[in-house]
Amino acid sequence: MKPIDQFTESYIELETAISERMQTLCTESCGLCTACCCRADICEETLCSAFLRRIMEHAEINPSDIDDRYGWLEQDGCSLAFGRPPICYAFFCDELLARMPDEESRWVTQVLGRLLIHVGDEVLSGAHLVEIETDNTLENLNWETLAKRIERAHRILSHIDAFFESGRISESGRRLLETVPLDVL
Ligand code: SF4
Ligand code: SF4
Repeated sequence: MKPIDQFTESYIELETAISERMQTLCTESCGLCTACCCRADICEETLCSAFLRRIMEHAEINPSDIDDRYGWLEQDGCSLAFGRPPICYAFFCDELLARMPDEESRWVTQVLGRLLIHVGDEVLSGAHLVEIETDNTLENLNWETLAKRIERAHRILSHIDAFFESGRISESGRRLLETVPLDVL
């Protein structure tokens, strides 16, 4: 398998896991929200981004199914199981954060939300992985380096899971989570 395909597989696995955790953490608040923060122009990034287009090839949904007005948003929420722009996981409104039990939970949740941004950050001349628009440029990225990043992200996720199970985080886990910047929005 080519490195780009291995990365894509691992990315889908990571995004699916993040999406499941986020659903558990946010559905109660977001499900009742009348000020949904989804926007069609964000959804459209899935069509412009060479990497997200590649991800969409593994999805059951067709890119041409996007709605002009609502993008991928449907009655029950986002219709994309994976291939969402990473920013979709990274935004937490103040109300949502305020409902979390303590500062540590807020921090760990925000790290979880920024993991995909972190994985693809500054892959080429300051551009994020999902900002690359041409397939040719995408193919020529350093996929060995990116593979190391995604392995690290999976390790970070296992520390996040451990935190939500036990309410505690180990020192090594804390150090890893601290490498994910929160000031990226
Ligand atoms: S993050 Fe906040 S604004 Fe966005 S859907 Fe959830 S509750 Fe609503
Ligand atoms: S979560 Fe889905 S519907 Fe919402 S902005 Fe992202 S892609 Fe669009």
